[in-house]
Amino acid sequence: MSNCAVVGINWGDEGKGRMVDLLTEKYDIVVRYQGGGNAGHTVINEKGKFALHLLPSGIFREGVVNVLGNGVALDPENLCREIDDVRAKGVAVTPDNLKISSRASILMPWHRKLDELEELRLADKKYGSTKQGIAPFYSDKYQKKTILAGELFDKEHLKAHAEEILEWKDLILKGVYGAELYTVEETLDWLDEFGGRIKPFICDTEEFFDEAMKQGKSILFEAQLGTLRDIDLGIYPYTTSSNTLAAYAPIGSGIPYASIDNVIGVVKAYSTCVGEGPFVCELFGDEAEKLREAGAEYGAKTGRPRRVGPLDIVATSYGVKMQGAKEIALTKLDVLSYLDKIPVCVKYELDGEKKAKFPFPSQLEKARPVTEYFPGWHCDISGARSWEDLPEEARSYVTFIERAVGCRIKYISVGAERDSIIVREV
Ligand code: GDP
Ligand code: MG
Repeated sequence: MSNCAVVGINWGDEGKGRMVDLLTEKYDIVVRYQGGGNAGHTVINEKGKFALHLLPSGIFREGVVNVLGNGVALDPENLCREIDDVRAKGVAVTPDNLKISSRASILMPWHRKLDELEELRLADKKYGSTKQGIAPFYSDKYQKKTILAGELFDKEHLKAHAEEILEWKDLILKGVYGAELYTVEETLDWLDEFGGRIKPFICDTEEFFDEAMKQGKSILFEAQLGTLRDIDLGIYPYTTSSNTLAAYAPIGSGIPYASIDNVIGVVKAYSTCVGEGPFVCELFGDEAEKLREAGAEYGAKTGRPRRVGPLDIVATSYGVKMQGAKEIALTKLDVLSYLDKIPVCVKYELDGEKKAKFPFPSQLEKARPVTEYFPGWHCDISGARSWEDLPEEARSYVTFIERAVGCRIKYISVGAERDSIIVREV
């Protein structure tokens, strides 16, 4: 049996969905272990083009079981919408191929509301939240003030628990934000409507995994966002509110004893960042606009233009290390084909010194990029399917990254479609 985590090395949007969709061919189970509907994992395959938010990217493969683990932010309303969307394109979603952990906490309507209110209060100091309620949700989870999916099956208990939580939540909504309150009735109605629809998928996923492990099934852990957004080791406070690291995968999936045999770190051939916070390698003006256009860098969830920059070796090396990546999937190499010379941020200049080490978060504002240039290849590489198909300059660029970040690049993606991939055999 072999388990694998597919994780983002940088700020997210590296192309994890695209890689998971490809790699699920070899796995029995795909599990999302953290985050929620703020994800936007784009998948393009024979079934169409999809932007998945909460559903694992293994949902398109027949025979693959997809799991939402205890660590995710389970938003039943958005999940129902997402299930309807993929079903409308002919994708089967049944209790056989989608399982939701009874221990997953439910993201409630007030979480989204509070997210919005807090961003408004912060004004020009805002974090750049996707306003999907993720931060208020995880705060409540750690305050032990959330409802677990499994509680939907006990109506009496659910009513009492919802009352208890609302008594406290309304104090905050009213006292801190002067906002409108939620009633127990509307809350129970909402839970009945959307919770009711996802009930068929809710089960004891720990037991499901236990059995699967005994049978030697292989598990693919699908992460959301990337290393630099990890709540513990990312660019705090410009992080998300969960652990995006591979090390958290077994816990957030409900199989803390599972080993991860391989960690595939997804790295984009250049950098992008959605939201606020320091982004040392950021490009501006015409140069940025060209790269954004070439890479169609607009958020899958929000449609917001993504901030762009060259590949950042300092941040990427840190990401590779913190993820424990054993292999890299380098995506969107084709996007760089328009460039005469390819910029790379090789070091940071900080306090008058050139540094290769990723700094403490509050130091990042002062850091400046040290840029080197590599020759471009001036041709379309989207048809390349083997290492030899790539022009010499593209190969040099890949080899340079590999050496600089200390990790083998096994996959090179040259297009968004499932088969636009080069797999380098070791
Ligand atoms: P994720 O959040 O990590 O799953 O990544 P996103 O889906 O948010 O962003 C990646 C975007 O790049 C999507 O629009 C993909 O369809 C697209 N994409 C992925 N790989 C490639 C590639 O190799 N080349 C090109 N041109 N597009 C790609
Ligand atoms: Mg994304």
